[in-house]
Amino acid sequence: MAAEIIDGKKVSADIKAELKAEVAQLKSRGIEPCLAVVLVGEDPASQVYVRNKEEACELIGIRSIKHVLPASTGQEELLSLVNQLNEDVSINGILVQLPLPKQINEHVVLLAIDPAKDVDGFHPVNVGGLMIGEAPFQPCTPSGIIELLKRYNVAMSGAKAVVIGRSNIVGKPVAMLLLHNNATVEICHSKTRDLPGEARQADILIAAIGKPKFVTADIVKPGAAVIDVGVNRTDAGLCGDVDFDAVKEVAAAITPVPGGVGPMTIAMLMKNTVQAAKAAAGI
Ligand code: NAP
Repeated sequence: MAAEIIDGKKVSADIKAELKAEVAQLKSRGIEPCLAVVLVGEDPASQVYVRNKEEACELIGIRSIKHVLPASTGQEELLSLVNQLNEDVSINGILVQLPLPKQINEHVVLLAIDPAKDVDGFHPVNVGGLMIGEAPFQPCTPSGIIELLKRYNVAMSGAKAVVIGRSNIVGKPVAMLLLHNNATVEICHSKTRDLPGEARQADILIAAIGKPKFVTADIVKPGAAVIDVGVNRTDAGLCGDVDFDAVKEVAAAITPVPGGVGPMTIAMLMKNTVQAAKAAAGI
């Protein structure tokens, strides 16, 4: 039997609708969540991401403020804007769109963001909080993956989860969140000795590699839930890290690309912004 398709577009729309209702309630109490987005330069993909974030804010009723700076902006100038946003009590979330131009050190900029406004969840304070299960914000793509698993009733407790990829933005944090949900977690990477053998044991298989169709049907355990984080641009169009057509015949549940994990990232960013506004109001 072919796998159930995990519809990230639908879940993302559901979350946005839930947030819209919550924001309406907050506004009736005089609380208006606000997200500041900073874009440096004219990278076309970044422009699309920022526009999508603005549209999501508008839909939900979150106020959004956009700061667009030229590609020639220096690090000190950007840091001074971040400090200004940190101090502005009307702003709950700060998002600096990555990548930044090469004259700016991304790490220094991310460190400068007030952890209480770090809705991306990338500040080391929040990364540490994630480790001990006390982060106010969880990074958006990993928490979106957990939300998909929960809403499709994929049992995490006691399950063997294998994460392929160990990046700071996806692989490591999603592994930690799976652990907090009582999965037995293993992280594979380019030096893993027998990756197919490890993957075949997974009840939950997460692919965050950045290589088109890396996960083939023969390395997937029958009945597994397969989450494809990959976004690869190929001549044939957008493609995930999983060979979707073949794997869907083996797995019990699978995310498509596009329409799986991708739409969840923005929904979770919105959720973090509302969370930040509530925390700032002492709720
Ligand atoms: P990354 O920083 O490039 O990390 C890729 C990971 O894959 C690394 O840990 C690397 O291992 C591992 N890897 C590469 N080749 C491998 C191989 N042959 N065998 C085993 N492991 C291998 O990538 P990322 O930022 O995590 O992103 C991964 C994918 O997710 C990309 O396609 C990206 O576009 C996509 N993505 C999507 C979203 C979304 O919202 N949907 C968000 C973020 C990222 P080593 O550490 O050993 O090198």
